[in-house]
Amino acid sequence: MRLTLATHNEHKLSEFARLLPGYEIVGLPAGSEAPTEDGDSFAANALIKARAGAAISGSPAVADDSGICVESLAGAPGILSARWAGEPCDDAANLKKLIEQTEPGDRLEYICAIAYCDPQGGVERVVEGSCLGTRAAEPRGSGGFGYDPAFEPLQSPGRTMAELSGEEKDQISHRGNAVRELSLLLGDR
Ligand code: IMP
Repeated sequence: MRLTLATHNEHKLSEFARLLPGYEIVGLPAGSEAPTEDGDSFAANALIKARAGAAISGSPAVADDSGICVESLAGAPGILSARWAGEPCDDAANLKKLIEQTEPGDRLEYICAIAYCDPQGGVERVVEGSCLGTRAAEPRGSGGFGYDPAFEPLQSPGRTMAELSGEEKDQISHRGNAVRELSLLLGDR
């Protein structure tokens, strides 16, 4: 089954392709405009993007809205994670800001909401997944993307998310956990 993933983010596309091997995951056509993410939660923004993806493709679409929440910063940057250091989205600048604004050992949480929209049946669903961790002493590793070099998952002590293989990240990540919920919903298991 073909599933549109409403994103231009290559990292998200490859993680979804890995996590949903039974599906043909396709991104948005090049040049298609991204909708304004003006929701007040991960779930609301995921729905905005999935609805836009379904409207563009005319077929079932999913969208992921995700980010990092820092306990000592009252949950910031949260839904603003992609643009925390300013526009346009700059992963290196965002990571630098996280290192500057936090201390080693600070508690972090990745959150991922995934919305599913089937324009034919009028079905809309949202699932969520999370992953707890702490801020690493210094950024390490070259895998993953975004804040991964600074994020030490509680389930992989001593290694940052960027030091895990893709498959190891999938087993414990917020996106992996949300996609497993999505699979249940789609009746895959
Ligand atoms: P979105 O594309 O609006 O959902 O923004 C997601 C942002 O959250 C990304 O640009 C990253 O900064 C951050 N993020 C989400 N998931 C991950 C992840 O798995 N690793 C690292 N950073 C992530």
